[in-house]
Parts: sequence; C-alpha cells; structure tokens
Amino acid sequence: MNRSKRVGTVFIVGAGPGDPRLLTLRAAQLLSQADVVVHDRLIHPDVLGHARRGARLIYAGKEGGGESTRQDDIHRELIEHARLGRMVVRLKGGDPFVFGRGGEEALALAAAGVPWEIVPGVSSGAAAPAAAGIPVTLRGIAASVTFATAHLDTGEPDWRHLASSPTLVLFMGVTRLTQVSASLQAHGRAAGSLAAVVEAGTWAHQRVIDGTLGDIAVKVAAAELGSPALLVVGEVVGVRHALESFVSEPVLARLGQS
Ligand code: SAH
Repeated sequence: MNRSKRVGTVFIVGAGPGDPRLLTLRAAQLLSQADVVVHDRLIHPDVLGHARRGARLIYAGKEGGGESTRQDDIHRELIEHARLGRMVVRLKGGDPFVFGRGGEEALALAAAGVPWEIVPGVSSGAAAPAAAGIPVTLRGIAASVTFATAHLDTGEPDWRHLASSPTLVLFMGVTRLTQVSASLQAHGRAAGSLAAVVEAGTWAHQRVIDGTLGDIAVKVAAAELGSPALLVVGEVVGVRHALESFVSEPVLARLGQS
C-alpha cells in the first residue's frame, strides 16, 4: 500500500480572534470532518462545536510546565495521530502563522514526512484593533503597520524600529506594559503618542482602554485588563471615537450595557 495513503493529514487551522462567526468556511468544514482536534486555549466553544460528534478533542494549552517541552509534546502528538491514519485539525487562535508557533509545527510535520496543510485565520493583530474602531493603516495617517511581540523568547525586540513604526501592534505585551512603554519612549516615541489596549477583541466581553504611551500602563493596570490583549500605538488610535458608532455587535452590546 502507498504509504502516503495510510498517513493522515494534519491541517493547521486558524480559529480567528474570538467571535466564532469569524471562523473561515474552510475551517468549519475541516472541523466537521476531522478525527482528532488538537486545540489551544482561548478558542470559543461554538468554534469547537463545529467538530463532528465522536471526534477526539485534545486540549494542548501551554500554561504551566516548560514551554518548549510542551511544544515538542504537541509535535509528537500531531505526528502520532497522523501516522495512525487519522485526519487531524490543529486548531490555533487567530492566524496560525502569526506568533502562534504554527510555523514551528509545520516545520516539525514536514521534517517527519507527515502531510500537512495550512488554513489561514483572521489574526487578532488586525481584528482586535478593528473591533475597537481602529484601522491599523489609514491613508494620510499610517502607511505601514508593524506587528511585533513583547515576548522575549527570541531576544530583545528592535525597539528603535518598533518606536518608529507609524502603527505598532504589540502582541503579548500587556504584562510588560510599563517596560514596553518606557522602552518605546527611550527609543524616540513621544510620551504623548496615542495608545490603546484591546482586551479580548471581538469577544462579547471585549474591553478597550485608550490613552497615551505615557499613561496607558497606569490606566490598564487600574482597569485590571488581562490576557488576551494587545497594544496599539499610533495616530490611528485617534480615529476610534469617530468610528465607534459603526463597529461590530460585541462592542455595541458592551456599550449598551454600560
Ligand atoms: N496567532 C494569534 C496570536 C497568538 S499569540 C493571532 O493571529 O491572533 C497570543 C497573543 O495574541 C495574545 O497574548 C494577545 O496579545 C493576542 N490576542 C489573541 N487573541 C486576541 C484577542 N481576541 N484580542 C486581543 N489580543 C488577542
């Protein structure tokens, strides 16, 4: 028998930023067919609800334990299921290849000779600002955007570059917000630069705090914003109030409650 017929395929699938209606049609279709779904934390239950009855749902969250060991375990698990001939969906938040370690998983599968496919998702990097009424680029205001992470796994970020980006979207930056805003200022970004933090963008419980680079850390701490959240720095943040009345339902629901 042809070996490739026996090995199952692993689909590395983006689940979108939170709101389950932002799942792609392709993702929903694959979920409804997969034998095994290996998912991260922060996936809406309605997204997992697309999985077929009888599919095995495996949670591969990373809290606790050594992160790199866990990552190796995930690779091993994906490879094992595929070699047993199972169709596997590896479901990841946002877009799998944007700070999600999806690239590492794809490399591990390729190295193991396991067939795999990528299914892009709506990344929170653009979607969370959008849901807060912030366009990450805007003609005449920001002609480029930098997506970066404050996670120091891969060493200290290039602060000079980040500080000079017309729009900066920083993933995983909220726990280090005080240091991040100090570093950006030390590398030339004005304390008065507009900044916002979007918590749980597109989820029903989305929250947004805006201010300036100088005061955002204090405001976010006072509001006790937590994960998942991202920081947006740039003049585009100022558009938020003009656009607020046009943004999507979760935000309107939130405003209705306040
Ligand atoms: N692959 C994902 C990012 C994974 S890294 C994507 O494309 O969206 C995890 C980080 O993403 C979180 O720490 C947070 O900074 C950000 N994030 C994910 N979902 C978010 C959301 N709904 N709102 C705000 N930030 C989010």
